Amino acid sequence: MVAEIVCVGTELLLGDIVNTNAQYISKELAHIGIDLFYQTVVGDNKERLSAVLDTALSRSDLIITTGGLGPTKDDLTKEVAAEFFGKKLVFHEKTFQHVKKRLESYGIYNMTESQKKQAMVPEGALVVTNPAGMAPGIIMAQGDKAIVMLPGPPKEMKVVLRECCHLFINRLSDQVFVSINIKCKGPDELPLKEIGEAPVADLLGDILDNENPTVATYAKEDGVLIRVTASGKSREDALSIMKPIVTKIAEILAGKIAWVKEEI
Ligand code: ATP
Ligand code: MG
Repeated sequence: MVAEIVCVGTELLLGDIVNTNAQYISKELAHIGIDLFYQTVVGDNKERLSAVLDTALSRSDLIITTGGLGPTKDDLTKEVAAEFFGKKLVFHEKTFQHVKKRLESYGIYNMTESQKKQAMVPEGALVVTNPAGMAPGIIMAQGDKAIVMLPGPPKEMKVVLRECCHLFINRLSDQVFVSINIKCKGPDELPLKEIGEAPVADLLGDILDNENPTVATYAKEDGVLIRVTASGKSREDALSIMKPIVTKIAEILAGKIAWVKEEI
């Protein structure tokens, strides 16, 4: 299994932004034992992006792209990938509802045509809802090759990558991943200033930077969810690796936890 990262964005080529996405994904892949031999940066240009995907798919099995999933004209990644695999873009109701809901939370009730474009995905693709933004992650697999497309903004890229790992990428690695979900009490039981995502993250502090296990927080309507994920040679190995951190979190959040469950 050989992976390749393709970061899309003219801003990267101009030096306007630093390619932190490539660094983050590289570390994640190393962590789960997937070989990475190439990283490429390409501008927002259809022909050049298509040529880069062609080269990447000829020498790697898993291509992870970032950027170019947004609603504007220069966002071309899913269009180019769909064309590459001979697929049409089709309307995705769940994404449409997600985009609509997010826009409504900003007080926007009329979607523009380009905002509606966010709900178009390649036919047959696996669509991963973006909890931190609108553009979903998109996984296209054909034969033994796959493209995983992630949004460009680093915060969104990280959460969507995590979801894609849970759904797909982990299966390509020879490590076993185990997640434990720790659900905090909801706003109906404790005040938000104690149990909202920010205060929980403050209480957890450096634990959120841990590498194995990784620890992430997700704001849910009925309370914050903390997901602890460890990799190991077996389920037992992963569980024993995560045990000290799970115990520490349980101590820090004593009285604030609703339940703890292994994710199946
Ligand atoms: P959007 O919906 O915000 O347009 P997108 O998926 O289309 O998202 P881009 O338009 O390519 O992504 O990038 C949006 C922003 O994300 C950039 O302006 C930049 O701030 C950040 N970004 C994109 N790619 C990278 C990268 N490789 N490393 C770090 N930051 C990045
Ligand atoms: Mg964009």
